[in-house]
Parts: sequence; C-alpha cells; structure tokens
Amino acid sequence: MTAKRIDGKAFAAGVRARVAEEVARLKEGHGIVPGLAVVLVGEDPASQVYVGAKGKQTVEVGMASFEHRLPAETSEAELLALIDRLNHDPAVHGILVQLPLPAHLNADLVINALDPAKDVDGFHISNVGRLGTGQKSMVPCTPLGCLMMLRDHLGSLSGLNAVVVGRSNIVGKPMAQLLLGESCTVTVAHSRTRDLAAVCRGADILVAAVGRPEMITGDFVKPGATVIDVGINRIERDGKTKLVGDVDYASAAEVAGAITPVPGGVGPMTIACLLANTLTACCRANGLPEPQ
Ligand code: NDP
Repeated sequence: MTAKRIDGKAFAAGVRARVAEEVARLKEGHGIVPGLAVVLVGEDPASQVYVGAKGKQTVEVGMASFEHRLPAETSEAELLALIDRLNHDPAVHGILVQLPLPAHLNADLVINALDPAKDVDGFHISNVGRLGTGQKSMVPCTPLGCLMMLRDHLGSLSGLNAVVVGRSNIVGKPMAQLLLGESCTVTVAHSRTRDLAAVCRGADILVAAVGRPEMITGDFVKPGATVIDVGINRIERDGKTKLVGDVDYASAAEVAGAITPVPGGVGPMTIACLLANTLTACCRANGLPEPQ
C-alpha cells in the first residue's frame, strides 16, 4: 500500500485565499484592516526566516504587517513596554513574539504580558486554560493546522485512537487537547514512554512532534493510519543539507493510509493558521461574526 500524500502546501494556499476574501470583505464593508505585529528579538537565523515569511504572507492576504526587530541585548523592561504599546494599539489585532527568546528574557513572563485577545499564537496562560476547558480561545497555529488537515481527510474524528508523540506546550499538549475536543481517545507519548512503537501501532491518528529526524518508521504505524509529521529537522545527507520530518516518510508511507510530507505538510499550514487567527482576533475585537 502507498499512502495518500496530504498536500499541506495546497491546503494552506486554500486557507490563505479564504482569509484574503474575508479581509477584502472587512475592508469594503467596514473599513477595517486586520493587523499583525511580529516581534523578533536577536538574530537567530531560523527565526529571521520565519519572521520574514510571516510578514510577506500577511501583506499578501491584504493585512497590515508590523515588524519589530529588536537587538539581542534588549532588556525585559524594553520588550514589555513594546508589548504594552501593541496591546493598546487599535491597528494591531494580533501579536506574535517569535520564540525562542534570548536566554536573559523570561519567555513565560513576556507571553503572559500579551493581551490574550491578541495572542494569535495561543500561548498565553489564559488561552491555554480556555482550550483545556473547552472555552472560546486562540488556538496554537501548528496543532490547529494539523487538526484542519485531519478533519479534511477523515471527516469526523470521533472515537478514533490518536497518539501524539511529544508533550511540548507549543505542539504536543495543545494537539492532544484539540483531539480530545474532537472525541478521540488520546494518548500522549514522550521520551519516557515504554515500547513507543507498540503504543504508536494502536493509533488511527499518529501525530509526531518529537524533533528527532525520521525516528518514526513504518513499524510504528498501524495499517491505514493517518500520519501527521510536525517535525522539521535539518540534516546532512550526501553532502547536502536536507529538511526531514520526525517520520521516515518512505517506510511509513508503505503502511499508512495518508501521510503529510516534510517539507510541504504541516509547515505551510502553521503560517496560514496564524493569518486565520489574526482575522478571528480582528472580527472578535470589532464585534463581527467570526469566519468559519
Ligand atoms: P520539544 O523539543 O519542545 O518537544 C519534543 C518532545 O518530544 C518532548 O515532549 C520529548 O519528550 C519528546 N521526545 C524526545 N525524544 C523522544 C523519544 N526518543 N521518544 C519519544 N518522545 C521523545 O519540540 P517541539 O514540540 O517544539 O517541536 C517538535 C518538532 O516539531 C521539532 O522538529 C520542531 O522543529 C517541529 N515544529 C514544527 C512546527 C511547524 O510549523 N511545522 C512548529 C513547531 C515545531 P520529553 O518531554 O519527555 O522530553
């Protein structure tokens, strides 16, 4: 069997097109332009690439993009002052602080200083609590993108066994909450899990968010399962730098029913969901119905 390849790039293009339509409607009907502020502290090369891509796509869907690139030595007080300004700026509907922050800055303190209504990454403690208790919240972009692809491919997820490998606050835990919200039976596996392969083989839905190149091989996969690979790992192979996931695509695709590739799977969906969240935040701020 060769699994269906879930095309995250095409799916994300569709999400962006829908966001762009809604943005145009907001402009025409209400004179409102959704705005996203991205804050980058320091010169981390991967973060610079992500921030550049976010700014470009924000403008492409017709939103206003506000980029704040601060030097690595920025103090906590300076960063908090900027966040306070953005919290009170009516042109800014979403704020994203690019992680990781330099070590001298307390990321929890900084994220929790955001206005939760503008926290389009969904990392503020209030949004985390709301997601966990089933209340309206901002949902973290990467797991939201995974869920959208799962729903599109499977329809109802109710009653399915889902295994999430990884328990980080930004991917594993919110992914598990979302799947629980869809009435899956959810197992969260991590580095202490015993016989990970056997646990994974029980999964109708297998989400890998580990950060270990190609660790999940075909013998971890239940025949016909849907496999979502969140991993982004840069490796050297045949003298070239290559991007691979946490799943060994070749062997997993022999067993799975459907699988996301890396690149071109979860990655593009993350920024598309950031734009969708910014649109949602803008509609909520203006008392307008939220796009579905
Ligand atoms: P973290 O490093 O924060 O978490 C990794 C998780 O994997 C931890 O819970 C850890 O367990 C678990 N783990 C590590 N080794 C093993 C193992 N051998 N067996 C089982 N579990 C293990 O990573 P993130 O959640 O931030 O990211 C995960 C991956 O997703 C990375 O490759 C990252 O680059 C990618 N990513 C991709 C995004 C996208 O847009 N596509 C966005 C965000 C991340 P423990 O808790 O016990 O240490």
